[in-house]
Amino acid sequence: MKRKRIALIHFHLESNRSAPVTDRSEFAAQGLALGDAYQEKLGRPSPVASKGTKGFMQAFGDFEPVAIFDASAGAGGMMEGDFFDELLQVVRDRLPADIDAVYLDAHGACIATNDEDPDGTLITLVRDIIGPKTPLVVTLDLHCHVSPAMINGADFLSAYRTNPHVDQFERGQEAGRAMRRLFAGEKTARALVQLPFIPPSTTLNTDAGPYGRMMDAAVARAEGAVWNVSLCSGFSVGDSSKAGVNVTVTADTDEVALRTARDIGQAFWDAREEFNISLTPVADAVALMASDAAAHIYGDVADNPGGGGRGNTLATLKAMLEGGVTNAIVGMLYDPALAAEAATLGEGATFEARFNRAEEHPQSGKLTTEVRVLKVADGMVDCRRGLYAGSRQDLGVCALLECDGVLVIISSIRRQLCDPAFIERFGLEIADFQTVVVKSRGHFRAGFDEYFPPERVVEIDGPGLTTPVLSRIPFKRTPRPIHPLDAETVWCAAEAGIVNEPR
Ligand SMILES: [Zn+2]
Repeated sequence: MKRKRIALIHFHLESNRSAPVTDRSEFAAQGLALGDAYQEKLGRPSPVASKGTKGFMQAFGDFEPVAIFDASAGAGGMMEGDFFDELLQVVRDRLPADIDAVYLDAHGACIATNDEDPDGTLITLVRDIIGPKTPLVVTLDLHCHVSPAMINGADFLSAYRTNPHVDQFERGQEAGRAMRRLFAGEKTARALVQLPFIPPSTTLNTDAGPYGRMMDAAVARAEGAVWNVSLCSGFSVGDSSKAGVNVTVTADTDEVALRTARDIGQAFWDAREEFNISLTPVADAVALMASDAAAHIYGDVADNPGGGGRGNTLATLKAMLEGGVTNAIVGMLYDPALAAEAATLGEGATFEARFNRAEEHPQSGKLTTEVRVLKVADGMVDCRRGLYAGSRQDLGVCALLECDGVLVIISSIRRQLCDPAFIERFGLEIADFQTVVVKSRGHFRAGFDEYFPPERVVEIDGPGLTTPVLSRIPFKRTPRPIHPLDAETVWCAAEAGIVNEPR
């Protein structure tokens, strides 16, 4: 068989409408590679690519990759429209109409300043270029918002099944296997069922609780005529006009796809009252830190950079200092100016630190206090567990400060602390701390599970752009009525959902 030419696109931004706009520089800081630059990365003996892309390459086997672009900025505000247009132009310039197939590794919850459904627009553009018959397979994040355009354009869609996310590689492999079936001449139908329900982010771990149970039942349906079931929570704080739990099913026929999606959607709706948050007030968390209880890890879940949070709210740190907490570490506070100052002054220096001097968001807060520079670090970290396991992450200039008995990690790139390596790089042992406070919503659970089982995890109710307390979010575009914001919300799966339009 002639070697297939398959185009590869990686497009990841989880947009939080309340956060500052994400511009080109944020993508550049995280390894933006367009066209030839991406081709060079893919051509290395050990290709530099997303986990999903690597999974796809491994499972599909030998093919000729045609690099289009690799644009990922994790989570942030809406994507700046001019940059989105630039990416679309790269597709027009680089994607050959006679390509054999396309694999898109997308997040699925992007909003651009000029487009409410960039993922759908991108998929539609690709489909327009390659024509109706060429296979296009897509992998998505579990927090995605699937649109009609996405099921119309793609032949196969598969979203992560784990939260914290640890199956990106496996979903890429699944996409690679699906691509083989499509090349063999098999055809698919896709159904989409959207629920008027935005579950709070902290209720959506899949290792236990209602979402885990629902996910197991959904995945069990993916056999025989059902190629894939993607049961996606959506991204509640994103305030997308596509917001809500969504079920996407790829199957042999319309009828099977829609029936399966409706069944799963109805079961999820019926369980909606089980998705309750259990946050701990900051004062109670500090009291636990100061007690002689066993060691705990505290998720500052409302200020998660992985969901578009600023990663620099100071409410918890201030309360810890006021409460006399010791034997504690807090990380990472995103503060490039403070990190640079600490690096300039050097290890051992003592100075008056002005936290958040350049930050304007009112929820972030300010703090001026004397600190000592214990360590300075720069650049990349080799990650070892959870979401980032096996990857290298750039945190920019970092500093470890000692602040009245509390250690604080300052970073220059806004990223959640979900891997122990981010702390261990300073020569520290996780097990030595009574208190570990992390800016992360839930991915820290998979990174720190060796030290902190679920009963040693505390979710703090602090301020921030990713708060699970939905009543505090200034929703503008989320469709209403929606559960749990609006008591009058009603829904029934029997009439819900669509299947893809014929091509
Ligand atoms: Zn996600």
